[in-house]
Amino acid sequence: MSSSLKTGATTLTSDSSLGARLTADRLASRRVSARCAVCGGDRLLEHLAVAGEQGPEGLIPTTDRFGTALSDIVWCPSCTHMQLREIPTEAELERAYGEASSDDYVDEEAGQRATARDLLERLERHAGRGALLDLGCWVGFLLDEARTRGWAPVTGVEPSKFASGYARDRLRLDVRTDDLMTADLPGGEYQAVVLGDVIEHLPDPGAALERVGELLAPRGAVMLMLPDAGSRVARLMGSRWWSVIPTHVHYFTRKSLTRLLTDHGFELRHLGTTPKAFTVRYYLERIGGYSPPVSQALVAGARALGVADRIWAPDFRDRMVAIAVSP
Ligand SMILES: [Zn+2]
Repeated sequence: MSSSLKTGATTLTSDSSLGARLTADRLASRRVSARCAVCGGDRLLEHLAVAGEQGPEGLIPTTDRFGTALSDIVWCPSCTHMQLREIPTEAELERAYGEASSDDYVDEEAGQRATARDLLERLERHAGRGALLDLGCWVGFLLDEARTRGWAPVTGVEPSKFASGYARDRLRLDVRTDDLMTADLPGGEYQAVVLGDVIEHLPDPGAALERVGELLAPRGAVMLMLPDAGSRVARLMGSRWWSVIPTHVHYFTRKSLTRLLTDHGFELRHLGTTPKAFTVRYYLERIGGYSPPVSQALVAGARALGVADRIWAPDFRDRMVAIAVSP
C-alpha cells in the first residue's frame, strides 16, 4: 500500500524495502551533531525526545506521523536553532525522496495554486520578473503560476520521479528529475530561486544557501518557505507539533533562519507567515495522525455539511516565508 502525504518537496511512500535500505544506511553512517548548523555553537542542549518508534520499516516520512523524528532534537542556546542529534546522510534522504509520490497532494491543486500566487506577489516586491528556479518544485504548481504572471524562463528541479514527471507531462514545464544541490544549472542566471519546504530537510543548510548564491544573478532574491519552530503553536505542542516528522533534519526559528541568511551574505527583506491553503477535508484527515476515530467523524461531519471540498487556509502562524536578496 502506498499511503503518503506531502510537505512540499518531501512526500514519501510507505515502501518496506525502501525502509529497510534506509535503516541499513542509518546504522552504517549517521553522525552525531557536535555543532549548531547555523552558528557553529558547540553547546547543544536536549530539547525533545522523539527518536525511534519508526517500526520495522524504518524511515516512513508521511505527514500524518507526527512526533516521530530520526533522532532526538537538540537546541542551540546561542541562536535558538534546533536540529536532530544525529544528522542523516545525504544518501539516506535522497533515495527516499526519489521514491516519493502522492495523489492526495495533486488533489489539493486549487489550494496550492492560491498559496503560490500569494507568495509570488510578495516575491515580486523584491525581484524583477525574470528567470525563476524552483529547487524542490514538487508537481510544479508554483512554477506554472509564475509562468502565467510573466516570469520567464521558469525551471524546476525535483528528485521525485512521480512529481517531476507530472510537472513535465501534465503542465509542460521544464522540470528536471535531479538532486537539488548538484543538478547542472547555469550560475549567476536567476532573478529568483525558491526553496519551498526544502531547507529543513537538508543536512547542511549553509551549503544550500552558498549554492543558491552561485545560481542567483546579482541582487537576485531567494524565497524560502518552511515551518517556524519558534512559533507559539510549535512551542505549545512540543513533540506533538505536526512539523515534527521523520524527514525534518533542522527546525528553524525566525532568529536562526535570519542568522543563516545574513551569515551567507543575504539581506533579509521580508519575513512573514504563510498558511498552507488546503481543503477542509485535507486538514481534517491530517488530524488522523493524532486520533483516527476523531478524524473520521470530523470528515464525515464536514461532508454532511457540504464543506469538505471548500478551500480553507487556517493560519496557525507556524509557517514562515523569508525573502532575502543576494549581494
Ligand atoms: Zn546556533
